[in-house]
Amino acid sequence: MLPQPVIIGQVMMGESMESWEFRTSPRARRLSARVHLDGRVEIVLPRGASRESVDSFVGRHRSWIEARVAERLAHAPAPFPPRDIELHALGQRWYLHLAGGRGAPRAEIAAPGLVSLRGTGERARLAAALRDWLKAHCREPMQARLAELAGQHGFAFGKLQLRCQRTRWGSCSRRGVISLNICGAFQPPPVLDYLMLHELAHTRHMNHSAAYWHAVEAVCPGWRTLDRELSRGWRHVPSWVFS
Ligand SMILES: [Zn+2]
Repeated sequence: MLPQPVIIGQVMMGESMESWEFRTSPRARRLSARVHLDGRVEIVLPRGASRESVDSFVGRHRSWIEARVAERLAHAPAPFPPRDIELHALGQRWYLHLAGGRGAPRAEIAAPGLVSLRGTGERARLAAALRDWLKAHCREPMQARLAELAGQHGFAFGKLQLRCQRTRWGSCSRRGVISLNICGAFQPPPVLDYLMLHELAHTRHMNHSAAYWHAVEAVCPGWRTLDRELSRGWRHVPSWVFS
């Protein structure tokens, strides 16, 4: 019989907010890392492994693990160009019209709910045009929601930066600049809210201390579940976003 996995904790790696699963196995002789097909990361520890040995293992293998995660996610098959783009967190669905024509690819709103992709080019360039559109388009609603949540809970932040990254969901600088991954727009609304509150709470605590999580708990009681959802949120992100 397989031993019951024991989750000994989730670590928040720096500001990247990946929650990797850590479990001890009585049969493990040494530390090992597994990257699942859906990009989930599992670190298996032998019984009695010290915190230092885990930190050092993670430090040494981090870039390898991240590369595997990116590989797994990139291999998830998805048709391109997509028929539509569902920005779940924003309550929007955009159908895509391939307009063709000359020139470098560019995407723009042609009508309510319709994005037109003009120009010609190979897949990577078409995807880049869609990504540019996505970034520009998400700016206003994400900024508005962040400001709304900040106002509701009395947080102050400097400004918002939008990024498109494979491994990080967000960050908050000492100056209160909040960076959010546009992939947050593909998540269920409560998950994006949690991501925003997670970063806003860093304007008070620049760490993941008990005091920090206490502050998160106060504004987002369901954070544990939402945090887990967010760490698996890559599955909601269409692969063209990274191609
Ligand atoms: Zn954090």
